[in-house]
Amino acid sequence: MLVQPKFIFVTGGVVSSLGKGIAASSIGALLESRGFKVTLQKFDPYINVDPGTMNPYQHGEVYVTDDGAETDLDLGHYERFTSTTTTRYHNVTTGQIYHSVITKERRGDYLGETVQVIPHITDEIKSALMRVSEGNDVVITEIGGTVGDIESQPFLEAIRQFKTDMGWENVMYVHVTLVPFIQSAQELKTKPTQHSVKALREIGIQPDILLCRSVQKLPESVRRKIALFCDVRNDAVFTAQNVPYIYKVIPGYHEEGVDQKIIDFFKLEGGHEADLTEWNDIVHRLDAPEHTVNIGIVGKYVELQDAYKSMVEALIHGGIANQAKVVLHWIEAEDIEQKGAAAILGDMDGILVPGGFGKRGAEGKIEAVRYAREQKVPFFGLCLGLQCAVIEFARHVCGLKNASSSEFDPEGQCLVIDFLPEQLKIQDKGGTMRLGAYPCAIKPGSLAHQMYGKTNISERHRHRYEVNNEYVKVLTEHGLVVSGAAPDGSLVEMIELQDHPWFIGTQFHPEYKSKPRKPHPLFAGFIKAAVKRNTLL
Ligand code: GLN
Repeated sequence: MLVQPKFIFVTGGVVSSLGKGIAASSIGALLESRGFKVTLQKFDPYINVDPGTMNPYQHGEVYVTDDGAETDLDLGHYERFTSTTTTRYHNVTTGQIYHSVITKERRGDYLGETVQVIPHITDEIKSALMRVSEGNDVVITEIGGTVGDIESQPFLEAIRQFKTDMGWENVMYVHVTLVPFIQSAQELKTKPTQHSVKALREIGIQPDILLCRSVQKLPESVRRKIALFCDVRNDAVFTAQNVPYIYKVIPGYHEEGVDQKIIDFFKLEGGHEADLTEWNDIVHRLDAPEHTVNIGIVGKYVELQDAYKSMVEALIHGGIANQAKVVLHWIEAEDIEQKGAAAILGDMDGILVPGGFGKRGAEGKIEAVRYAREQKVPFFGLCLGLQCAVIEFARHVCGLKNASSSEFDPEGQCLVIDFLPEQLKIQDKGGTMRLGAYPCAIKPGSLAHQMYGKTNISERHRHRYEVNNEYVKVLTEHGLVVSGAAPDGSLVEMIELQDHPWFIGTQFHPEYKSKPRKPHPLFAGFIKAAVKRNTLL
């Protein structure tokens, strides 16, 4: 443990979507591979308090932490790339900062003072940095948005001041930019990077490292030019080359010398040579798979895969565990309603119904479950996927023809999925959702038990509705297995089928906890079953 934690700030310029989150996470992974304890944090300059209520088209996935915070999807990358466990303090928005300052002002904490952006807002931002630093050698904080945005200015001002507060030797600025290749000129262009660094320098931040996104490795002449005009050391301008999958960024940065540069900059002591054995193995497995499986994902928003980020990664991790290339087929649930499940799902080795909200496409999802159950195709239902599986079973196996969820049919007569009144207790914790980690007791001898290898687990939730306990008896009498439940038995957490190669539904979201170095057992098991089906067919 270092006595004084080091702080790395990751900003972005030129355009958004440059992969700042992956850049920050990869730096974290590399420092961890050298024996340092790291954590990562995201500052989001929007005014929403959290992304919980944002449209997935705009925001992508809402990532849920153990402590039940609804956060930015980059926190998922932080947890997948490193061993940090994020909390509500790891995602800080403008909304939260202002909320906290205004609450203090109303309480009289600033009595007599005029409350201003500087110092009150900036101080609040700086205290958010200190809050996650305890117990860590290095804190990496990513600033959302692009340098030059009006709304990110208080955050940039706070991180600028932080260097003086903490000592120059303890703070580093990493700027991620774009060096585009212009076809007509057949040339890499440095001007956008120059402008972006200029914008950063205007607010007083001099980057220590530039990570230049580029389709090709920057030639020495281009690097020198960028160094010269941006006042960055020649050996601190790195190519962040495009890669086929995100985990390849880690060894890529290492080859470029990014981690060594950081070690030298901070004069970090007590670490060791980078141990990339696990990451190299992952890259090898992804580069040279032995199997291919086709997974049909039946959902809404299928055109917007960022909304399912953690699930996509978890499926890839399942592939890593089985040396399999996982080919995802995004299927609009409404297409199944029109064309029938067999026509669309016939070639799939596994069918997955992911989490989701609302009625649209529900019947198509239920049809997909029916097809998977009857045709004995490996099936995995996540959250809404479990709910659809319970409805399907109730309708077609138990003969409860009107079975539904109060989310789809609020006036329904046979609500096997319902809003449980006991849940109202958690109302003040963010609407009416069950959020965050809850313990679950696994039924001994079940498929779930075989997958997890233990009977006590903890998984993260984000949902409103639950299996209605009034129907559990009829469901189980007809063969549905409740293989996971709240330890006091009050809530169904997992279901499965007997006489089926692999059929599991989870009320929780196991995808949030899957990591490439530790694929989640359910995703590993699902892909394994899909590989088996593929080999048999
Ligand atoms: N819409 C469902 C519920 O609120 C499922 C949510 C989800 O899949 N995350 O219970």
